[in-house]
Amino acid sequence: MKTRVMVIDKSAVLGEQLQEAARILRDGGLVAFPTETVYGLGANALDEEAAKKIYAAKGRPSDNPLIAHIADPSGLEPLVQEIPGAARKLMEAYWPGPLTMVFSKSSVVPYGTTGGLDTVAVRMPDDPVARELIRLAGVPVAAPSANTSGRPSPTSAEHVYEDMNGRIDMILDGGPVGIGVESAIVDVTGAVPILLRPGAVTMEMLEKTVGRVETDPAVISPVKADLKPRAPGMKYRHYAPKAELVLVEDEEWERQPKAHMTAVSSRVTAAITRLALEKAAVGKKVGIICTDETRQKYPDEGIWLRSLGTRGREETIAHNLFAVLREFDSLGVEAIYSESFSRDHLGQAIMNRLTKAAGYHIIKV
Ligand code: AMP
Ligand code: MG
Repeated sequence: MKTRVMVIDKSAVLGEQLQEAARILRDGGLVAFPTETVYGLGANALDEEAAKKIYAAKGRPSDNPLIAHIADPSGLEPLVQEIPGAARKLMEAYWPGPLTMVFSKSSVVPYGTTGGLDTVAVRMPDDPVARELIRLAGVPVAAPSANTSGRPSPTSAEHVYEDMNGRIDMILDGGPVGIGVESAIVDVTGAVPILLRPGAVTMEMLEKTVGRVETDPAVISPVKADLKPRAPGMKYRHYAPKAELVLVEDEEWERQPKAHMTAVSSRVTAAITRLALEKAAVGKKVGIICTDETRQKYPDEGIWLRSLGTRGREETIAHNLFAVLREFDSLGVEAIYSESFSRDHLGQAIMNRLTKAAGYHIIKV
């Protein structure tokens, strides 16, 4: 299959340009498109055959459900059995935006989209290209991240091309995404909303809007093999670079989490330096993930050093995370040592992705 790439000017989205992409979606084809979180791989969410193509293109296990994207709030009602009060408040506060909610599904949503579940995850993205495309398609658009399953999510059209060239009909190139980590997912089917995946709509924001919100255990620690997780995607290896990734953190900091925001201790930088040099000494290609505050503290020779940005701006850290993991992949780096981050606010999403990418390998010093 030949994959066409169409460059779209996000500041002046032209309907005519997107007509062709919308037609492909209506005809059961695959189109990758930018959203504010990461690039999505879109197909008609109501067409089981189209959804199957997504699983094939990504190499995604078929029990890992897809998120249906809608262009405006009125698109929700046909897909769900009911819209609970908490969901209405959250829609009001955060749609369009990086928040996905899980509802009881209506009969129009095929099981091929929901991985066999009786629930459906729905989001209204806040990206002009995404919204116009979905509007023109006239159907809800199932769109998981447009990467090969397991790899770091794509935050630019180039990342999508790397993974999807020859596998999908079209890539809409709207430039780099804004946020860089996937949407928060909240299950609103029960009495108390449950956070299934942290994102840029943070736990603190959710609680401010609806009061108490629970956190699914899979957000924090690995899912046990025999347990059926509420967000099925969580049981799979995720976001991972090809290299072995290890996080290093100061155990003292758990007691004062705010310290992560502004500084990293010399115990951490010393431990990362030692581990990196040991690996390099046995002939491995080694990468270090640091921050602007610590860049000077690491050896620059013989080690690939990449900063995620300043700790003062967690948005920058989130934005750069997947791109840096992918860059290490393309450099052929074999081992990566990374600093870690605070686990509150946007830091919860950053650390969720980083710890999963590391297979929960964290060294405390
Ligand atoms: P991705 O599309 O790569 O952002 O992944 C979508 C995530 O949404 C997966 O981890 C799924 O497990 C989760 N998800 C989608 N639909 C549902 C659902 N009905 N219930 C729970 N989680 C869902
Ligand atoms: Mg994904």
